[in-house]
Amino acid sequence: MSAPAAPGSIWCRYPDFALTIWNEKFNGARPLLDRAGQPLAAQALDEAGRVAAILVWSALPGASRHHWGSDCDLVDRAALPAGASVELLGKHYAADGCYARLSAWLARHAHAYGFFLPYDLDRGGVRPEPWHFSFAPLAVPAQAALHPDLLRAALAGSKLLGWETVNRELPDVFARYVSAVASAPPAALAAAALSRATRPA
Ligand SMILES: [Zn+2]
Repeated sequence: MSAPAAPGSIWCRYPDFALTIWNEKFNGARPLLDRAGQPLAAQALDEAGRVAAILVWSALPGASRHHWGSDCDLVDRAALPAGASVELLGKHYAADGCYARLSAWLARHAHAYGFFLPYDLDRGGVRPEPWHFSFAPLAVPAQAALHPDLLRAALAGSKLLGWETVNRELPDVFARYVSAVASAPPAALAAAALSRATRPA
């Protein structure tokens, strides 16, 4: 692939603790935010309200695209101000944000490497995530294989807080927060197929 190197270092993040994050948001141990990113008091919401609020910013455990091995969150650690910790916030990826160079580079070249942004727009479910990239040849079949019944079976024996609500509303939750993503661009699929075809056996 002849695209120039990305600015700085790219850090790939694979969270493996979706259930812990979910439960801590549910019980108020971790901040819960509304769609605008403003804090919510978990204790003031009923179970359905907490579930809806968590899903805006966190994947339903078992439904995170990160678990497919196809998706990662990208930051430019070299561009972080000294002493600052990594935060996945939209403002950092805007034209005046610390990751603006990375974001511009990815906008130009990600498809050439087979990657795309599944959460590019607000589709009424997950908020836009300009840091989250999917590798199309793995993510597309993984998404096609995931079904609400598969999730229900996996979660039924888990310690997921709010399970009654999730179970009752699973088809809607699935449609809004799992299925409602961008389609893989043909360019990303074509680039990945090309790189497979030219890889030495
Ligand atoms: Zn992510």
